Amino acid sequence: SEKKRILLLGATGSIGRQTLDVLRRHPDTFELAGISAGHNEDALQEIAQEFPEIQAASVESTDGRPWQTDLITGADHVARLMDRVEYDLLVNAVVGFAGLAPTLKALESGHDVALANKESLVAGGPLVKKTLAETGRRLYPIDSEHSAIWQCIQGSREKDVNRLIITASGGSFRDRSRESLKDATPAEALKHPNWAMGKRITIDSATMVNKGFEVIEAHYLFDVPFERIETVLHPQSIVHSMVEFKDGAVMAQLGSADMRLPIQYALMMPDRPSLEEDNRLDMTRTQSLEFREMDMERFPILKTAYETGKAGGSAGAVFNGADEEAVALFLEGKLPFLGIEDAIRYALQVVPFVQDPDYEALRDCDRLAREAVRYGVSHGFQVE
Ligand code: NDP
Ligand code: MG
Repeated sequence: SEKKRILLLGATGSIGRQTLDVLRRHPDTFELAGISAGHNEDALQEIAQEFPEIQAASVESTDGRPWQTDLITGADHVARLMDRVEYDLLVNAVVGFAGLAPTLKALESGHDVALANKESLVAGGPLVKKTLAETGRRLYPIDSEHSAIWQCIQGSREKDVNRLIITASGGSFRDRSRESLKDATPAEALKHPNWAMGKRITIDSATMVNKGFEVIEAHYLFDVPFERIETVLHPQSIVHSMVEFKDGAVMAQLGSADMRLPIQYALMMPDRPSLEEDNRLDMTRTQSLEFREMDMERFPILKTAYETGKAGGSAGAVFNGADEEAVALFLEGKLPFLGIEDAIRYALQVVPFVQDPDYEALRDCDRLAREAVRYGVSHGFQVE
């Protein structure tokens, strides 16, 4: 067909739903070829009813209800869905390490990927990079900071880029002292001031782990060394990130906090069709834009993220796996808020480093990091 066929993984999540909204606006441009979810069969079925062109859907397990489209289930449902569906572009909106395998599989089978799943690059950056080089395929960033950088560098040459400046809202706890975070609750941490997102990334924003992930993500997406990637606090989330060029010129991308803009750009660039009118920035009514230096003492995990990125190899998989497990434990009330940082540092110390990991090695590191965190929760995070 003439239309661009989209395979959307994580269709039921925050990014997944907003991707559907972008597709709804452009029925002549896109066709939804396939969808997947983790467990939410109800929401998946609703989407399948709205988009009858869907070839197949997948979910880990089903309650056995009748489906009008092909439904694939089981532990390997995403891989089987990707084999079954004919598509032109993968939109990877899965959360967590589970998103890495689909990114690799899409590239290896000759597909480009619109990437929301930042864990693909945090956990598997070197391997994804190698796969991109071998296959000649491309990644289109969806994360708002990386979309901003991508928009800012259009038409410029890599050698003229001096620094990437990633903005950080500071998350739910930006105005609280470290001392006061000792007894921070999941409910408090889940209240992000500027963005409505999935639970994991909302907690990661409160700990600043998310900004650390984004530094690593930017390194792999834009080939800029860590020494030339900076982060700056910007409470308003209006400047989504900036690029400084060698001559001192700084380009910034501004916009309201609406993920549909970066999603649509990843799917349609260089086209920029209109989104909702009420999403427009009114610069005469916009409050002032503030920028503050990132305080590495207040957010020490950001420093750990830089070290992890520079270490390369399997370090990112351990960093991500430990955080994924620690965030889940925090949400269950089994780990205090600041314990998330302890858990990450502990896993980085006890899980053996692998220099040049293949996918299986990364998967092992992910598992070992989770095991280390669970062990540490019951035995303490001290390394003997
Ligand atoms: P959500 O938790 O809202 O959605 C996650 C999606 O992935 C759901 O569809 C979920 O299915 C599915 N899923 C969960 N676990 C698995 C698994 N093991 N295998 C297959 N599918 C699974 O997350 P978000 O939409 O917030 O985030 C998605 C990704 O985008 C993350 O990597 C995040 O960091 C990134 N991102 C998100 C932003 C946002 O604004 N939300 C902004 C920038 C980046 P089910 O519904 O059944 O659980
Ligand atoms: Mg982001």
